[in-house]
Amino acid sequence: MARREVIGRDGPGCAHCGIEDVRLELDHIAAVADGGAEWDVENLELLCTICHKAKSAREARARARRRSSSSGIRRSGIPTLFDGMDRLGTSRRW
Ligand SMILES: [Zn+2]
Repeated sequence: MARREVIGRDGPGCAHCGIEDVRLELDHIAAVADGGAEWDVENLELLCTICHKAKSAREARARARRRSSSSGIRRSGIPTLFDGMDRLGTSRRW
């Protein structure tokens, strides 16, 4: 199963913050919606629910930004809670 392969590669904890003994969720490193491979273990990592939510929110924002830049609408660039969390915490791979 993919989950076991990911644990073998990354270890038992969250791939971003390293926390163990919490529920971990399989996450696509490159979101399938962004063209990432859905079943490639190379594109999977295990995240705690907090990191998973933060990453999903970041990806949603990135998609919205791409949409708005392609349609010519400018964003305000106001930093959000998740931007702050990203700076404080976890800088792995993305
Ligand atoms: Zn985490």
